[in-house]
Amino acid sequence: MRRFLLPLLLLMFLFPSCEKNEARVFTSLDLNTICSITVYEAEDEEFVQGAFDLMKEIAGMIDMYDEDSELSNVNRNAYQEDVYVSDELFSLLSYAYSVTEYTFGAFNLAIGPLVRLWAIGSEDERVPSSSEIEEVLPLLDWRNISLDEDEKSVRFLKEGMAIDLGAVGKGYISDVLASYFEGNGVESAIINLGGNVYAVGTHPSGRAWTIGLQNPDTERGGYYTTVECSDSAVVTSGGYERYFIAQDGQVYHHILDYKTGYPASSDIVSSSIITEDATLADMLSTACFALGSDKAADIVRHYNVKAVFLLKDGSTVRIGI
Ligand code: AMP
Ligand code: MG
Repeated sequence: MRRFLLPLLLLMFLFPSCEKNEARVFTSLDLNTICSITVYEAEDEEFVQGAFDLMKEIAGMIDMYDEDSELSNVNRNAYQEDVYVSDELFSLLSYAYSVTEYTFGAFNLAIGPLVRLWAIGSEDERVPSSSEIEEVLPLLDWRNISLDEDEKSVRFLKEGMAIDLGAVGKGYISDVLASYFEGNGVESAIINLGGNVYAVGTHPSGRAWTIGLQNPDTERGGYYTTVECSDSAVVTSGGYERYFIAQDGQVYHHILDYKTGYPASSDIVSSSIITEDATLADMLSTACFALGSDKAADIVRHYNVKAVFLLKDGSTVRIGI
């Protein structure tokens, strides 16, 4: 069983001071990471538990590792039959498919069989043999996923295919949570799903938020630069986020290249996308990491988002911000 999918205890830490504009941080261990929600007004607290509930509800739809999720039902049955899905899942799949097409698979929703093979982050993680990799490569072609817009159904044209929404799920969930807070009139909040940040509204002072971008070489909370934003997602992908070190000392990280079957490698160490659409930001941060700074710059301009890349040579590239 995947280590990080063991049922996790929900830990909530409430800092009970209720002075106006004082940050109150609520934390849970979910989505295989540390999730935190920061609110500032006493009346905002009552929405926070609802946000954690929403988060778990959506995770239960899109988690490839949860046997009971709607996505698992697709992965189990879509080769044998058309699988009819909810409008919500269908929209997310269509969005993920379109970004897969545009990035030509740098972000690839059909990456599931390769992710399962490497199992990075689980107790089964290992370097697969080259014959195992050869075997799954033909299953990663997204053009063998057929999405029927009218019927809202999914079909796989090859046996053994699997959709993985791991590179878009946290972004999608933060979009839903941001709408939930905004819809309830919350003017200042920070949603942080393991480094996928959504800055709701503005800082209580009325100024933009300042969000630190994690320095891959230091402990959590050490930043290499900051960005200013309001009503915006700041989503980061990096090989340092999840990896293992093999017996030969080689580091293998979790963002995979569907063409080679191995972890993707480019001049980017950490890729952050800044835009109000957190779903898009999540997909593009993964794609840009894999593509490298030149091609990533084209993608960033095409989608009209902002980006910050930390490169292997230590330099920082900022686009639009
Ligand atoms: P992220 O942290 O958003 O960059 O997403 C990484 C996760 O997405 C991995 O843990 C895999 O579950 C999945 N994944 C790995 N490589 C890719 C890829 N090239 N395209 C889409 N999803 C991927
Ligand atoms: Mg991503």
